[in-house]
Amino acid sequence: MPTLLWFRRDLRCHDHPALLEAAQRDGEVLACYVLDPRLEASSGARRLQYLYRALHELSDNLDGNLLVTRGRPEQRIPVLAQAIGATSVHISQDYSPFGRYRDDTVQAALGEIALCATGSGYLVSPGRITKSDGTPYQVFTPFFRAWCRHGWRGPADSGPHSAHWINPADTPPDICDRIEIPSATENLMFKAGEHAARSQWREFVEQGLADYPARRDRPGLDATSRMSAHLKFGTIHPRTMAVDLDSGDDAYLRELAFRDFYAAALYHWPDSAWQNWNRDFDAIEVDDGEAALRAFEAWKDGRTGFPIVDAGMRQLATTGFMHNRVRMIVASFLVKDLHLPWQWGARWFLDQLMDGDLANNQHGWQWAAGCGTDAAPYFRVFNPELQGAKFDPDGDYIRRWVPELADVVNVHKMGADRPASYPEPIADHAEERQEALRRYRHLG
Ligand code: FAD
Repeated sequence: MPTLLWFRRDLRCHDHPALLEAAQRDGEVLACYVLDPRLEASSGARRLQYLYRALHELSDNLDGNLLVTRGRPEQRIPVLAQAIGATSVHISQDYSPFGRYRDDTVQAALGEIALCATGSGYLVSPGRITKSDGTPYQVFTPFFRAWCRHGWRGPADSGPHSAHWINPADTPPDICDRIEIPSATENLMFKAGEHAARSQWREFVEQGLADYPARRDRPGLDATSRMSAHLKFGTIHPRTMAVDLDSGDDAYLRELAFRDFYAAALYHWPDSAWQNWNRDFDAIEVDDGEAALRAFEAWKDGRTGFPIVDAGMRQLATTGFMHNRVRMIVASFLVKDLHLPWQWGARWFLDQLMDGDLANNQHGWQWAAGCGTDAAPYFRVFNPELQGAKFDPDGDYIRRWVPELADVVNVHKMGADRPASYPEPIADHAEERQEALRRYRHLG
């Protein structure tokens, strides 16, 4: 009997267990993607570009056998399944709050036709690892130990030729409502799609992995893998990557574990998407009003007068990417120096980031704000000057993104050589640190 393979955040052919499962039913498979207007509206422009490119490539890899349609999945998927007489619809499990809600709705609309989930985009799927009393881990290090012990399977042996694909042109056009994949017109900083993901990974393994632990915290060195957007869209599975890691590469594996940890946190506490994971923080005093909005605009524009903060925010606005260390610094600055709600920063990040991912982003922000799982203690307030000097010692990263400072000798301690074209600091860090501590102490 024919089956339907519904692609979502798994835009690849290799290492794709759901593809194998769909193909195992001894019949032909219709591959489809549903452009959901809700996701089109909430994805930043760069993520949509990435998506469209990855879909073009996926369609090419399947010799054009990808049916793309637009609409609500609970309406489109049953129609497609019925059009080909499918007995089952195959997916990779999506654990996000929206994904779970959407898939429940689709299953209800499918009635007798089964929605079969095989595999997920994680090394260890959310919910698999809990403490001995069955409750979820709230702290990363014990989670990491249990995660390593749990382990994962090797990559699934799938590819574009693992199934007999149904040609979308052979489906009834009036029912299936095929559309062209939107063209991706804007320039992206990174190449999108499965081929790009795999070659980016190979290049990193050969040239960057060995030095990753020593160099990963230095934004000026471009020493991280830049795999985040590929992982977000599932153009590569982390299992494919883990094959290349041995125990000496713990530092990299740890980051992949963080990705699983935050996905699990969002799965267990879906409200933590926009609310403080630690509800004690609901009582914290945050700024709003005119002055707060002005400070927020300066932060977004990279015009705070703090070089490392401005460099990060400009890298984000220009490329849709920001180095992890700098994400931590600009997030801390927004929350602890400007006293703004972390949700403001998180929303801006999701708008701009090519790798924008609800679990990693919201929990990254809550880590910085001190209200998340395993959060930084509230009294640790990053000093932007010291952080800049420590992690960008030669100022290369700052000079790359803040060209006004190109000729300044010490970008971390400017005096009379502060260029007139570069803004004065919008805050006094020492004072705002005290103010942040006062507000945090108030939580009791
Ligand atoms: P590498 O250092 O090469 O890491 C390898 C992979 O591990 C990454 O691609 C990513 O999938 C995962 N990873 C690394 N660090 C983390 C982390 N701290 N938490 C979870 N996973 C991690 N990551 C996103 O993918 N999407 C986001 O929207 C996002 N928002 C963030 C917001 C804030 C405030 C902070 C502090 C971090 C955020 N991160 C986010 C995590 C991290 O900054 C990025 O994953 C990383 O910078 C991506 O670059 P890379 O692929 O070169 O990372």
